[in-house]
Amino acid sequence: MQIIEQIYIDGAFVTPHGDEYFDLFNPATEQVIGRVRLADADDARRAIAAAKRAFPAFSRTSKDERIAMLRRMHAAVLAREDELLEAVIEEYGAPVSRARWMARHASDVIEQAAKTLENYAFVRRAGTAEVVMQPLGVAGLITPWNSDAGFICGKLAAALAAGCTAVIKPSEMSAIQTRIVTEALHEAQLPPGVFNIVTGRGDTVGAEISSHPDIAKVSFTGSTVVGRTILRTASETFKRVTLELGGKSPMIVLDDANFDEAIPLALNAGFMNSGQACIAGTRILVPQSRLHEFEEGIVAAVAGFQSGDPRDPQTSIGPMVSRKQWDRVQRYIRIGIDEGARLLAGGEGRPDGVAAGWFVRPTLFTEVRNDMTIAREEIFGPVLSIIAYRDEQEAIAIANDTPYGLQAYVCSSDLARATAVASQIEAGRVLVNTLAHEPAAPFGGFKQSGIGREYGAYGIEAFMEPKAVLGVL
Ligand code: NAD
Repeated sequence: MQIIEQIYIDGAFVTPHGDEYFDLFNPATEQVIGRVRLADADDARRAIAAAKRAFPAFSRTSKDERIAMLRRMHAAVLAREDELLEAVIEEYGAPVSRARWMARHASDVIEQAAKTLENYAFVRRAGTAEVVMQPLGVAGLITPWNSDAGFICGKLAAALAAGCTAVIKPSEMSAIQTRIVTEALHEAQLPPGVFNIVTGRGDTVGAEISSHPDIAKVSFTGSTVVGRTILRTASETFKRVTLELGGKSPMIVLDDANFDEAIPLALNAGFMNSGQACIAGTRILVPQSRLHEFEEGIVAAVAGFQSGDPRDPQTSIGPMVSRKQWDRVQRYIRIGIDEGARLLAGGEGRPDGVAAGWFVRPTLFTEVRNDMTIAREEIFGPVLSIIAYRDEQEAIAIANDTPYGLQAYVCSSDLARATAVASQIEAGRVLVNTLAHEPAAPFGGFKQSGIGREYGAYGIEAFMEPKAVLGVL
């Protein structure tokens, strides 16, 4: 049982003013494994004040100094990888294969920010003006539970690379992972106040960050509903905002696709991170002419996707993070059945032989229409919809007929054709015949999937404002 009673403000671990305790669970067993004492709005204000005090000196540090700090942070987080891996399995329920990637990702994103910074030009020329990229001020970073360490480290590294100081509000459900990351970052010996980590509730600590006049920038990853609230609140003080929100990503299988490749790709894209991924390819668009063949192939392939004990190397889908999330996924499976979609695999309840834990059966629906609830709303669990289309133009129309626009996938044996389809998709990223991530490329959403971009130079610039100085050249 881990009791976490400290938050991190002004370079030190301190007891929060907030006195509410929140239970932490192992989602595979439903057992309470710890408790965290939550920060409150008062703690958020103390953290913001510390970041504000640290900003003038930190914003004037040189690029080389900041690269050196990022490298120390990278080494410190990398050194805790095994401990982080344990926490990702225990507290989040990620299958061991995925958990290793997640634990490594946390240090990788810091290293990538350092590399980007090496080649980044803060001063440019525009006509007769000198344009200087200037850090915005104190950044408020609000992160979700589905990749706790990765989001904390990624957002923080970009903010610091730009010269901003930061107040981080991670999800209260990931406090063990947050504790490990915080301890590691502390070891990197950054100046006090440069980053502060206050675990608390969204409607107290998160709300304080998104409304406080001393926060210049909010970078948020989470649900579209909360993103909308933050955007509204932040508008009062004209904060700059980056919002990475939900998705309902299409996996477009073109009629020339090799199904031996397309089917595993579709299942891996849909079930990644146990289906708790904003980029999951949850709408599988299949040509009517080959629908039967696709259905047969995917039913056979889904049998190889085991939902169960995250410590079993054969497992590819772990439990949902919480009882609330399990209930939500179950409700959507029921809605799919009630609205007339046909179950090809899975369904309601736990997988056979599993008595406890927030496990979901890997679920495939077919005969789904794009106007059904399961095709429109983000489920955030291992529940995929197969939607048939007549021709390529209809596939593109269905792919774009969504309020979201985060990511899309195209499968085809003709690269030129796939590229032409990709050019017509309204999404921040389109992956052709691959699931690979490119950290140098921008990541973010069109439409209600968000505002702004993360990663690479785009991600660092999200924490800066261009300032034109005239008459000096
Ligand atoms: P959430 O929106 O409920 O919470 C995200 C964070 O916001 C948490 O730290 C939460 O405490 C905080 N929060 C809640 N209410 C707030 C408020 N009123 N003001 C400020 N902060 C508040 O999301 P979640 O349930 O933690 O995560 C799942 C959601 O996140 C999914 O909808 C998913 O699509 C989305 N997500 C998006 C991305 C992306 O990069 N686009 C990545 C991961 C998750």
